[in-house]
Amino acid sequence: MPALIRLHHDLAALLRRPHEHGSVVYPVDREASLKDAVEALGVPHTEVDKLLVNGREADFATRLAEGQTIDVHPPSPPLDPTQPHPLRPPLMRLAFLADANVGKLASLLRLLGLNTAYAGEAADREVAARAAREGRVLLTRDRRLLRRSAVLHGRLLRANEPRAQLAEILTLYGLSGPFRTFSRCLRCNAPLVPVAKDEILPRLLPKTRRYFDTFHRCPSCDRVYWPGSHHDGMLRMLADMGLGGA
Ligand SMILES: [Zn+2]
Repeated sequence: MPALIRLHHDLAALLRRPHEHGSVVYPVDREASLKDAVEALGVPHTEVDKLLVNGREADFATRLAEGQTIDVHPPSPPLDPTQPHPLRPPLMRLAFLADANVGKLASLLRLLGLNTAYAGEAADREVAARAAREGRVLLTRDRRLLRRSAVLHGRLLRANEPRAQLAEILTLYGLSGPFRTFSRCLRCNAPLVPVAKDEILPRLLPKTRRYFDTFHRCPSCDRVYWPGSHHDGMLRMLADMGLGGA
């Protein structure tokens, strides 16, 4: 007798095979865990917030048995990964690791002052290990990467466009500001530190020297930041999205 797996809410949209309203009749022909079964259907374990077997809470290691009804629920916002959870250990603080396929999203998160490391060209295995080691939510468009057991917290971005992806993350984690905009280096995520104008004077163009007095420096890559035109453009973009700075 097969099992019935019911994918609730937006998880149904991730199903690979034909289904009726997120319900899939699943053949129980081998020893499979709930994690195996749900991921075989196309849903990475990171997207699951609650698992029920015949109405009772279960975890990913639970074995699938004949005739069971499995309910799979996504998180309902706001999700706080620092809180105790039956399916995964809590994070120390909310921080992200952006995969190479969501690089622009990483810049937008940094722009808001949110701690966001960037995976760059690292191999999948290393990216997954880093997310676990540094206690970060792995953000990606790659389902296979999220299926790795080393990944405990992650989010499969549903949107294509970086601003829509940002809105997706802010909604999911209930981040509504005020944000510490321009508090992190956009290039390397390090928190910026104030720097005296005198110290960097030789590096400034004449117009910047004349019109600006407040400067910040990245302690990691040494890039200098000031509230110039780039800054204004970014603030306008955030305002367009309904996001004010602090
Ligand atoms: Zn930097």
